[in-house]
Amino acid sequence: MRRVVVATGNAHKLGEIRAILAGLEVELVGMHDLGVPEPVEDGETFEANALLKARHCAQATDLPALADDSGLEVDALGGAPGVYSARYAGPQAADGANNAKLVAALAELPEPQRRARFVCAAAIVLPDGREHVVRGTMEGHVVDDPRGSNGFGYDPHFVSDAAGDGRTNGELTPAEKDAISHRGAAFRTLRPYVAAMLTG
Ligand code: IMP
Repeated sequence: MRRVVVATGNAHKLGEIRAILAGLEVELVGMHDLGVPEPVEDGETFEANALLKARHCAQATDLPALADDSGLEVDALGGAPGVYSARYAGPQAADGANNAKLVAALAELPEPQRRARFVCAAAIVLPDGREHVVRGTMEGHVVDDPRGSNGFGYDPHFVSDAAGDGRTNGELTPAEKDAISHRGAAFRTLRPYVAAMLTG
């Protein structure tokens, strides 16, 4: 069983990644359990941030490392909040403040002008310098009125095309969301690279 460090302190994300990589001979350990401090996320793309987080953990632990970076891109806002999704309304902003800012920014816009997508870059970095990064997306649109209490972040305000029935991400079960989500897509794409790089 190969130990792999995951560059997140978010137990929900760690659980999702464990489920997607189930069956591989890897033991996934969160960075905080290994005493790794948070890296500075100053990349300008999701891929750059995922790679810098994974490189940081691989260097700190001398173990293979996995990381992701994700966010919401809104076409009418030129791709914002993008890589700044977690801190759209300011440093340490709560989900409610970020959502309020998003709804205000899109006020009066009809549905066709509310196109948006969740994006997730997922990366693997080995201590010897080998690395690979992939991207997953979930297309949809932003709604003013929040619905549902599942998920996190912008989920109550996002209706994905793939849901097919107008439910927001907040109204999907965790399994329904994982099956169509940007994070699910990215880690399912990364899975064969993880398998090859850790057993090859
Ligand atoms: P990070 O990937 O942990 O750096 O944070 C990305 C930010 O994007 C989160 O704090 C959320 O605001 C938003 N985000 C990313 N993925 C999702 C999702 O699946 N649902 C809702 N919001 C998300």
